[in-house]
Amino acid sequence: MSRLLSLDQVSCHYDTKSGSVRAVDQVSIAIHPGETVALVGESGCGKSTLAKVILGLAPVTSGTIHFDGIATHTFDKAQQMAFRKRVQVVFQDPYSSLNPRLRVSTILGEPMWAHGFKGDLVKKRTAEVLEMVGLRQNAKDLFPHEFSGGQRQRVAVARALMLAPDLIILDEPISALDVSIRAQILNLLQDIQDQHNIAYLLIAHDLGLVEHASQRVAVMYLGRVVEMGITGEVFTHPEHPYTRALLSAVPQPDPSVKRNTDLIQGDVASALHPPTGCHFHPRCPHADRRCQEQIPPEFGDNHVKCWLSQPARTEIKHPNSGQ
Ligand code: SF4
Repeated sequence: MSRLLSLDQVSCHYDTKSGSVRAVDQVSIAIHPGETVALVGESGCGKSTLAKVILGLAPVTSGTIHFDGIATHTFDKAQQMAFRKRVQVVFQDPYSSLNPRLRVSTILGEPMWAHGFKGDLVKKRTAEVLEMVGLRQNAKDLFPHEFSGGQRQRVAVARALMLAPDLIILDEPISALDVSIRAQILNLLQDIQDQHNIAYLLIAHDLGLVEHASQRVAVMYLGRVVEMGITGEVFTHPEHPYTRALLSAVPQPDPSVKRNTDLIQGDVASALHPPTGCHFHPRCPHADRRCQEQIPPEFGDNHVKCWLSQPARTEIKHPNSGQ
């Protein structure tokens, strides 16, 4: 299948008064049309910066991003506009992401006006999109405060759909909502994807959501993707000690099930002064001297960046040994 978006060894480093921050460090991921790829990791691991890098809101300091086969740094003005039309974002908090002073008709119209669409075309699309997200047509005359939290997130999804995008970045799309309405928004996003073949990059820390909603998952730690693969496989057979630690921290419905709490120690280090070698080594119960000194390359189908996943060396037999 052709790739819609691919990142090849993409980094985002920037200087501050205190030094250079390695917010995103040599990340390679691909998203195909119509699939959901999840990005997971603790706060401060670089997930949201990576989303900004893709959206062009943070710089790519090395590596390349391709969209529909074209390197984004070579885009001319028209290609840049087309990219902005085809890639949209839904933020975590519908309370702050919608302008409280604007009616929904204006909130939904703005992205279309910015791309030169006018008049009846915008009205027609507004009506279509309100129906897609399950809101009544009179919703266009209301202000954001006149909706519940779930309805407001429907408006945010509607705004992202106005330009018929191919990819939507969902930045923690349900974590600010009441538990009772999370499933509704999830089902809505799933239905929209099924009907319109839209790809999602789902940024989340809720692993239950990721397991339910994504086909592939990339686990990030301190700017690097440390494991990436088919969600079911990664969740069933996690290889990287950090992935195992994240999964062990998921609350169990059965309180009698004992969790392994030895797998992770301390907090995420700062991207300003990241540890040498494997970034995870100060927290890893398996760390040894090599982990402190050398960055592990990727091993295996799930691109596991851990020395423990290095395949055992096959013994080289001497041709005359008779064995
Ligand atoms: Fe732990 Fe070493 Fe693997 Fe890093 S490379 S996760 S420190 S065992």
